[in-house]
Amino acid sequence: MTENRRTPFETDADRPLNPETLAVHAGGSRSPFGETSEALYLTQSFVYPDMEAAEARFKGTDGGGYIYSRFGNPTITMFEERMATLEGAEAAKATATGMAAVTGALLAYLKAGDHVISSRVLFGSCSYVLGEMLPKFGIETTFVDGRDPEEWRKALRPNTRLFFLESPANPTTELIDITATAAIAHEAGAVLVVDNALGTPLIQNPLSLGADVVCYSATKHIDGQGRCLGGIILASDEFIETHIKTFLRHTGPALSPFNAWVLLKGLETMPLRIERQARTARALADALRGAPGVTKVLYPGLPDNPQAEIAKRQMKSGGTVLAFELAGGKEAAFRFGKALRLVKISNNFGDAKSLITHPATTTHERFKPEERAILGIGDGLVRLSVGLEHPDDLIADVLNAAKAAG
Ligand SMILES: *Cc1c(COP(=O)(O)O)cnc(C)c1O
Repeated sequence: MTENRRTPFETDADRPLNPETLAVHAGGSRSPFGETSEALYLTQSFVYPDMEAAEARFKGTDGGGYIYSRFGNPTITMFEERMATLEGAEAAKATATGMAAVTGALLAYLKAGDHVISSRVLFGSCSYVLGEMLPKFGIETTFVDGRDPEEWRKALRPNTRLFFLESPANPTTELIDITATAAIAHEAGAVLVVDNALGTPLIQNPLSLGADVVCYSATKHIDGQGRCLGGIILASDEFIETHIKTFLRHTGPALSPFNAWVLLKGLETMPLRIERQARTARALADALRGAPGVTKVLYPGLPDNPQAEIAKRQMKSGGTVLAFELAGGKEAAFRFGKALRLVKISNNFGDAKSLITHPATTTHERFKPEERAILGIGDGLVRLSVGLEHPDDLIADVLNAAKAAG
């Protein structure tokens, strides 16, 4: 099959290429016209010269080829290969959204009677899928404080088949030691699935840290300019072949070729964007620490972050998202939101535009206040996704708003 094939360009290289180079070139596959930019194949199905060829294609005896865009499409393949190369994964399958990737990875691998252990600070929809949807299919999830390896160990059962975690977690940016957690999962015969939406393949490579499966919401930094939804699952050839491919092919959460094309273009500039956004995030975190009315700044890149040692070990930078706590709870957070000029109020992140959200009343509003307290999501907590604005303009906007809120 042409799906997931490695590019000659990668395997023939006598020295490994850097991520910036791979983000521009990897997975590119030119048509006979020799176009410079990746071609957009807007087609539902593919035609065969004769019935014999169709028969061979369905049997898989013709060396591979496309059948139907729900199964695969050349533009989507280019996106999958670029992502697999960047991530250092053997194989990848794209999905329509990040949640389709997470849900697909879980449902494709698990069956009734299985047990899952998950870290408890999660993106709202991930915690719905794990905590409310999986139990309807006879799969039970135990939520633990993912920061403590002993909690994962204590939650193990004979039927535990999968560990799930986000690190940095949305929205508090708390970190989990991926290497240590993978070791506990593997000892118990379970696989580790990491949702790396906040990490990005440029900041953190969960597969190289021991994870078995990585999921992305490509909607975030991979598009990076707020245009389209997308997702992707990356793992070994064996895992994708055995569990993922057939599940996605028949259940149908396919990525649109158009969105795959947008995401390919997004990847080309992602290294530049992430580097700049992470640098601004660090500067903003520093500026916020002394700001009036700001009681806590949560950013993995701060040297005095309680988890700085883990950040240093598994992340190349602190990332582009930070969270901070305002004295005065919800009222102060809302006053802060009203006083912002540049930063827009939106629950998305990874955009060129800086975006802020109040998790307690949006992404995590379905939790009871006491549950939110355990998760570290106070009423004064806001999550800020740092965009591409000039750092001075952004810092001035945020500090002005903090003054107005206090
Ligand atoms: C946004 C997000 C998702 C869901 O992605 P969509 O593309 O919106 O479906 C999943 N996990 C995390 C950590 C996210 O931030």
